[in-house]
Amino acid sequence: MADVRTSNLPDAETAPEAPLSPTHMAIRREDYRPPDWLVPEISLKFDLGIETTRVRATLSVERNGQHDRPLNLDGDGLELVAVSVNGQPAEHQMDGPALVIDIAADRATVETEVTIHPSANTKLMGLYASNGMLCTQCEAEGFRRITFFPDRPDVLSKYTVRMEGNAAAFPILLSNGNRVAEGKGGDGRHWAEYEDPFPKPCYLFALVAGDLKANRDSFTTMSGRKVDLAIWVREADLPKTQHAMNSLKLAMAWDEKVYGREYDLDQFNIVAVSDFNMGAMENKSLNIFNSAYVLADQETATDADFDNIARVVAHEYFHNWSGDRVTCRDWFQLSLKEGFTVFRDQSFSADVGSPAVKRIEDVRVLRAAQFPEDQGPLAHPVRPDSYIEISNFYTATVYNKGAELIRMFHTVLGAEKFRKGTDLYFERHDGEAATCDDFVKALEDASGTDLSAFKIWYSQAGTPKVKARLDHEGSTATLHLEQHEDPTPRQPNKQPMPIPLKTAIIGEESGAEICPERLIVLDQPKQSFRFENVSETPLLSINRNFSAPIMITAERRPQELDKLAQADTDAFARYEAMQELMMAALTAGARGEPVDCDTVIKAISATLKSNALDPAFKAEAILVPSDTLVAERMDVVDPDAIHASRDRLRKAIADARGEELLAAHRSDGVSGDDLSPKAKGIRRLRTVALGLLSAGDEATAAELAKAQFDRADNMTDRQGALGVLVSLDAPQRQEALDAFYNRFHDDALVLDKWFALQAAAQRRDTVDQVLKLAQHPDFVITNPNRLRSLAGMFGGNHWAFHSADGRGYKFLADMIIAADKLNPQVAARMVPAFGRWRRFEPKRSAMMREALERIAATPGLSRDVYEQVSKSLA
Ligand SMILES: [Zn+2]
Repeated sequence: MADVRTSNLPDAETAPEAPLSPTHMAIRREDYRPPDWLVPEISLKFDLGIETTRVRATLSVERNGQHDRPLNLDGDGLELVAVSVNGQPAEHQMDGPALVIDIAADRATVETEVTIHPSANTKLMGLYASNGMLCTQCEAEGFRRITFFPDRPDVLSKYTVRMEGNAAAFPILLSNGNRVAEGKGGDGRHWAEYEDPFPKPCYLFALVAGDLKANRDSFTTMSGRKVDLAIWVREADLPKTQHAMNSLKLAMAWDEKVYGREYDLDQFNIVAVSDFNMGAMENKSLNIFNSAYVLADQETATDADFDNIARVVAHEYFHNWSGDRVTCRDWFQLSLKEGFTVFRDQSFSADVGSPAVKRIEDVRVLRAAQFPEDQGPLAHPVRPDSYIEISNFYTATVYNKGAELIRMFHTVLGAEKFRKGTDLYFERHDGEAATCDDFVKALEDASGTDLSAFKIWYSQAGTPKVKARLDHEGSTATLHLEQHEDPTPRQPNKQPMPIPLKTAIIGEESGAEICPERLIVLDQPKQSFRFENVSETPLLSINRNFSAPIMITAERRPQELDKLAQADTDAFARYEAMQELMMAALTAGARGEPVDCDTVIKAISATLKSNALDPAFKAEAILVPSDTLVAERMDVVDPDAIHASRDRLRKAIADARGEELLAAHRSDGVSGDDLSPKAKGIRRLRTVALGLLSAGDEATAAELAKAQFDRADNMTDRQGALGVLVSLDAPQRQEALDAFYNRFHDDALVLDKWFALQAAAQRRDTVDQVLKLAQHPDFVITNPNRLRSLAGMFGGNHWAFHSADGRGYKFLADMIIAADKLNPQVAARMVPAFGRWRRFEPKRSAMMREALERIAATPGLSRDVYEQVSKSLA
């Protein structure tokens, strides 16, 4: 699956978007036992209806090993109509929601018939209705809401699916694999039959029935096979599907070139759905997508939306091998498919765009979403040891830190050996349910490299902290490193970790790389490394390209950082030097200490004026770290002090360098439909510069923003301008909001932006605005995208959410309680906004704890929210 990320908003950080009971038992990794019964084949017959659907399942079951345990089939909310074994009515019992059948023989055919109610399914797990169509979401445990089955990823079956329904309501009938038969029934009904030749776990099952139209194309694979491609949407949305189609074909070609992986069926379908809990789902040959990750045109989608669509389309496609052909043995191994596939989609996006800017974005997401997770009460290893509700583990740790782990393997082995390793992994485990250890073993066997020390990254939670100091004497520089790992819940004692650090020495006078980059692996608590032939004052360039997902504190003077920001030969390190410079000023300001604004201003000015840097990089480099990121550096968080410090620095920059910012804001026009990295960079810089200008003279900035808004021939400029205006007190603010609403209120995805921009506004009255928006007729709590746009986005608005009167806490807690009754998975993903209550100043800390306690005391709380809340309070 692809996680959902709130779209990039200008000059504000994306929310650490919230990822995804007393009777709630923890499931532990060490208790894993192979399945008692296997199901080599399953045949499903659906009699489809929006209100009621009837499902008949025929399972051929086989006893797995020597035992006399009964067949235990998971179920959830199913109305059982009939059960038979080998054609005879069968004795059976219910064990809670599970169906238990005693079977004497080692093999049998088990038939069940159930009814389910798609339109009443507000959890959006299993089979549900969305805008008159029927669709499914089964990962992680949704299949048990469709039929009785051993719902675990290590039970792989061949599927035959027959579905029948009203031809007018459901003209299009889709499932996994190949369509093998179809026909008409009586009473305006029709049917279709699908066969998927590849055995798969039930979480990859999919079905779609509805009134859809396709954008069709084809792709010829490297062995010359033609694959029919189709993207299915409502007819009116067809013109918005071309970017997704182009992205799919690019991804198919990329996976052949970079990983040698070819697509394996004759058809590949993508379906867009407007009510969807996550980003998208990689069901074999029938990917189901949140429409936000399919639909785009210049009028309605930003450059970031276009990039996200390419990323998610590629991510789900890549799962065909890293997830479908080789799946996970159990849900503790989720990162086996997700960490690896995120690494693959990050590499793809870097290859088709700007690698330096892509790396900066990846690291920003990691820092904003994963680092807080790793340091809070919900910290867990990349391969968790236990869970109550697996939906809560679709986290930035499993996905993004998991991807960093794979990237470290890639860094240590080099591209060629890494590829040999993945080839062996796919060859060895094709058609199997594998583990993270299997993956590492394949890399080790193919490369002849012992990676066992690195496996601690799978099991130990928390972000390592590294201190670095460079000594210089004669022609030798010595790098002294120290690492430290803080305790995390259930892991009080930590081991040192192997930390691969790409390091180089830059000459202060020459600005050249005087000691070329080398890979250092810090694997002791304290270690020193020598650099020879250091002929001038050395500057330390460390963790280049962010080679390890750690927090590093290097002893460096502001002048050193200023020099590195201009001269470092690694683009990421240059960005990092700039960020460190600003961070030092911001944290000093928040603590009430004297602030050195001048060095920051000088560095920003040099960055803006540099001809060697492209606009996209400039925009990233001058972006002032968000309140959330500053809070991560404080021992005691005072949101007002942080916000004031950030405002002062932004104002100092705007006052001192207004002319240069204005020039960047006005940099030469590019056409709105130009999606080249350069054009995107110019648009990004235009809005980032505008955001900084707005910290100076508000009235002038409001005029500039309104002009950009009115003139915009694309959503990037329009949303960027509105994103600046919403935080200002100027008459243009409401004019622009109204114009935006009137123009786009019929387009759900654009209306999401309208809600999200206001929820992210940096204003004293944001809580009032958000409370009003929650009463707006267009606010629909059952639609996950809309809920995330308002409540999710607000939870990530550091200053507003943490407003001193506690009303932000009350609002979000109320939302979580209300949403939990409808869709526990989505509600639970908003809880982490409260997670780090212990780090806040005493008054806020107490109010956050009270909010959590109030949620915990709500009767009938779901397992999802119970787990998040009880762990946050523990
Ligand atoms: Zn995924």
